[in-house]
Amino acid sequence: QPRVFSGIQPSGGLTLGNYLGAMRRFVDWQERGLNEGFETIFCMVDLHAITVWQDPEALRRQTRELAAGYIASGLDPAKAILFNQSQVPEHTQLAWIFNCVARMGWMQRMTQWKDKAGKNQQNASLGLFAYPSLMAADILVYHATHVPVGEDQKQHIELTRDIAIKFNNDYGVDFFPVTEPVIEGAATRVMSLRDGSKKMSKSDPSDMARINLTDDADAIANKIRKARTDPEALPSEAKGLEDRPEARNLVNIYAALAGMDVDAVLAEVGGKQFSEFKPMLADVAVAHLAPISSEMARLMETPDEIDRIIGNGAEKAREIAEPILKKTYEIVGMIRS
Ligand code: ATP
Ligand code: MG
Repeated sequence: QPRVFSGIQPSGGLTLGNYLGAMRRFVDWQERGLNEGFETIFCMVDLHAITVWQDPEALRRQTRELAAGYIASGLDPAKAILFNQSQVPEHTQLAWIFNCVARMGWMQRMTQWKDKAGKNQQNASLGLFAYPSLMAADILVYHATHVPVGEDQKQHIELTRDIAIKFNNDYGVDFFPVTEPVIEGAATRVMSLRDGSKKMSKSDPSDMARINLTDDADAIANKIRKARTDPEALPSEAKGLEDRPEARNLVNIYAALAGMDVDAVLAEVGGKQFSEFKPMLADVAVAHLAPISSEMARLMETPDEIDRIIGNGAEKAREIAEPILKKTYEIVGMIRS
């Protein structure tokens, strides 16, 4: 039986990249889990968010907004476990043990570390460096076997596998599963609207680089109108997008939102100018996102209710995590009395 875990950081407002690369997939897994009788677990990873500075009030709001985003996108607390990372202390407890299993060199190779720490690595937080170790704990404290993520998280899942393998070897046990990254769908890497070589991120300083789930129709249309493109018309086949990252990104987004493959989209829009294609893209985006953002706004009117839901989720999560942590401590040689 698979067990599915994934998380998103409340490090800003949710983007179209988070939605297409992650949240929409979570909903598919939730339904599959329900039909096939396995557990699906989704988390707001607030402890990851503070690896870069977050204003405390903003962090609280963003955490609730992320919970609202999950629910508005179709996650149901009656079907999946939905909770906030810091409310399940087993994550950090296991992360410490993994800090002692993982090697510095493994962390140093992570591209997210290099990107986010920037040139002045000495000034980055220790937490940012150790991020993948906590992420491995998030996953393995549930013995999760499948982790749906966007393409950018593949390297971290591979490191999770390395940690599981090394722990099992070091202690001569077959305890932690070797987790599979699940990177699937039409939009596993949505790119920035301003720069076709950078991924769309909620922490990008430019709001024009991303579509937020909370953007209204005007904002969405405006951002797509101003999105960077080249001057050529759209090609009629996918291979015509090869050296055109911005064009490819907009076509990919259209395909993912419309539930079509790229060739089918190009059969329809090949030969059109961007001035004609961009309003079409804005229409599909608005049609798709408007119901989500209005449901998010409705849920945000009752923050206490959101807190109650995630509190319940944390209790369910702990029921799974606690015995796994206890067993880990026993394997490592810690006294439990
Ligand atoms: P931050 O900039 O703070 O890192 P983020 O937008 O990268 O925020 P994360 O919380 O780091 O979001 O990632 C949550 C999930 O969304 C992960 O599974 C990640 O792979 C996925 N994801 C993030 N950005 C994209 C994107 N542009 N395209 C597809 N998936 C994405
Ligand atoms: Mg990220």
